[in-house]
Amino acid sequence: MTDHLMGVYNRAPLSVARGQGAWLWDTEGRQYLDCVAGIATNALGHCHPKLVAALTEQANTLWHVSNIFRVPGQEALAERLTAATFADVVFFASTGTESVECALKTARRYHYAKGAPERIDVIGFAGSFHGRTYGAINAAGNPSYTEGFGPRLPGYIQLTLDDAAALAEAIARPTTAAVIVEPVQGEGGARALTGEWLTELRRLCTVHGVLLIYDEVQSGMGRTGRLFAHQWFEGAEPDIMCVAKALGGGYPVAACLATADAASGMVAGVHGTTFGGSPLAMAVALAAFDEISNPNTLAHARDVAEDLRRQLIDLAARYPDVIQDVRGKGLLIGLRMIPNNREFMGIARDHGLLVAGGGENCVRLLPPLNLSHAEAAEAVTRLALACETVRAQVAQAA
Ligand SMILES: *Cc1c(COP(=O)(O)O)cnc(C)c1O
Repeated sequence: MTDHLMGVYNRAPLSVARGQGAWLWDTEGRQYLDCVAGIATNALGHCHPKLVAALTEQANTLWHVSNIFRVPGQEALAERLTAATFADVVFFASTGTESVECALKTARRYHYAKGAPERIDVIGFAGSFHGRTYGAINAAGNPSYTEGFGPRLPGYIQLTLDDAAALAEAIARPTTAAVIVEPVQGEGGARALTGEWLTELRRLCTVHGVLLIYDEVQSGMGRTGRLFAHQWFEGAEPDIMCVAKALGGGYPVAACLATADAASGMVAGVHGTTFGGSPLAMAVALAAFDEISNPNTLAHARDVAEDLRRQLIDLAARYPDVIQDVRGKGLLIGLRMIPNNREFMGIARDHGLLVAGGGENCVRLLPPLNLSHAEAAEAVTRLALACETVRAQVAQAA
């Protein structure tokens, strides 16, 4: 009975019971190959033994204390995150949208601290997703998430990814504080930006003293086969970066990373959170980080992603009446569908395969990074069965 749950989710008729690796079982005992993975969150699959061990050990030691004390796990994870990236400092939160909120506040405080408080405008892009807080919905600007929630906040500008002239003009304005962009759009339908696009954006931001924020909540933590998606490209580093989803491998933990300079306005008292960086969250996230950042894990992710992509391109060629296009990067894969994507998700589920939806009528495959080659082949087999079902339905309707 969902009667007493706020009706904000469009839930699949599947009650979950347990998971192991890339597999999920419902309360009726049916087994599914899980290519949703908590929306790119369970990057190591369900109940990874190292994460279970870290969680249970910490559960018997210390859960939560508050950020009025030093938390050794935060210092250890921040050291790892900064050593692996452009960043010097980290703020820990619990959810992606909070890491975005911290990034937006960090950017405005930076200009304020540098004596330019008039720089408040944040440039965001159509098709992006940054979470559900007021800052995040205003930065992304998707009308279906802002409508009915009161006036749009001042200081947010929406552009399209393909309008280079408008972007250059907006960055050059003296009131612009920051640009926020996902290097691979997730919810928007697995759209990967090119290295040229990102390096040109980086260049323009540097020239005009505007901070560059990457939202790598979905594309980060190994999803594309590099620890972070922008690391595929030279000279495309941001000033601030949002990380969440896979950071805890399924445990709620998020981080906002920044250079020391970009974070120079974030002084004691201006920001904080109760749950962010708890000892329990840090213990799980440290275990997840060590496993995901392991070169073997990333190499496997690249390998299985290539294997899967090749098979999906084949599948699209066999079913051009069902699959229009294969896109995305690494294991953040989008299939642009001819039939309605939501209906296709239901058909795939009937064949024991779980996939996520996405913008532009996509279904997304976001399997765990440790998906085996046999499981990748199994996902394609089940997709082919779903394509056959679609064909049969269309033939029957004709
Ligand atoms: C999921 C997501 C968010 C929001 O994360 P929550 O944990 O749901 O708040 C923000 N940005 C991107 C790119 C995401 O995919």
